[in-house]
Amino acid sequence: MQSYPQPLAKLIAELSKLPGVGGKTAQRLAFYILSMPDAEALSIADAITSAKRELKYCSVCGNLTDIDPCAICADPSRDKSIVCVVETPKDVVAIERMKEYKGLYHVLHGVIAPMSGIGPEDINVSSLLVRLRESDEAAEVIVATNPNIEGEATAMYLAKLIKPSGIKVSRIAHGVPVGGDLEYTDDVTLAKAMEGRREL
Ligand SMILES: [Zn+2]
Repeated sequence: MQSYPQPLAKLIAELSKLPGVGGKTAQRLAFYILSMPDAEALSIADAITSAKRELKYCSVCGNLTDIDPCAICADPSRDKSIVCVVETPKDVVAIERMKEYKGLYHVLHGVIAPMSGIGPEDINVSSLLVRLRESDEAAEVIVATNPNIEGEATAMYLAKLIKPSGIKVSRIAHGVPVGGDLEYTDDVTLAKAMEGRREL
């Protein structure tokens, strides 16, 4: 093991915490950062600090935002009769990218996964129910969890809870490959999946 000056060792150790960054990559990144002009390197550090300080979760939908409620919840032109339920803020970005969906969102921050000990109380379900109960406009909930076992189970669970209130519950259908990830689905496929949603 090479011995680096302590601040460099620390930088390498911190960078190697990032996903997909092994020791060698962390080392390369650290040396690269050190070779950058001071202002550029500090701007990276600043961006991390301000993103962590300024971003929070929307108190209505759970999406990542710097204002509360988020820009989507606060936008009067959005269709308040439809709420699209997704697993992560990254899924909101994926659906917004296709520029076709005009409804609102609800971010669960996970899925029900009994095998991993994650129940409905561990994700953002109760806030969804409260929100639907308090809304006099909500008419449809589109469950856009990923098409895998946990995503399907979560969709069924939500359908069972929500349907008795008279709100239609649908599930994105065609196109998203089984076992696939919404985040990595291309725009056309995603648009078709939304279009071809089926009622649960
Ligand atoms: Zn929001």
